Amino acid sequence: MKLILGTGEALTPEEILAKADKIPGGLAAGKKDSAFPRAKLAEGAEVESEHTSDAAIAREIAKDHLEEDSSYYKKLKTIEKGDLAPEKARKILHDKEVHGKDRKSVV
Ligand SMILES: [Zn+2]
Repeated sequence: MKLILGTGEALTPEEILAKADKIPGGLAAGKKDSAFPRAKLAEGAEVESEHTSDAAIAREIAKDHLEEDSSYYKKLKTIEKGDLAPEKARKILHDKEVHGKDRKSVV
């Protein structure tokens, strides 16, 4: 699957995440892992690891979500119990940009 960026580039989720790694920003930018409840961060990083093999990126994405809403992964689970595809479920929870303006395609 390829996603189209605002720039018109078509990239796989893995390619987008590889790019995002080099781009600072996101709600949790600069926040240490220890600023988040350990169990919630571990749960979030596991969910995000479906999209990247890089554990650091998965944690960074999870921290962005937990910074915005500490119940993000609980809500995601609830929504995914319905008929929605995981990517759609995530978009519903993204009512604002949490990963930084250059990371719009990272859900
Ligand atoms: Zn996200």
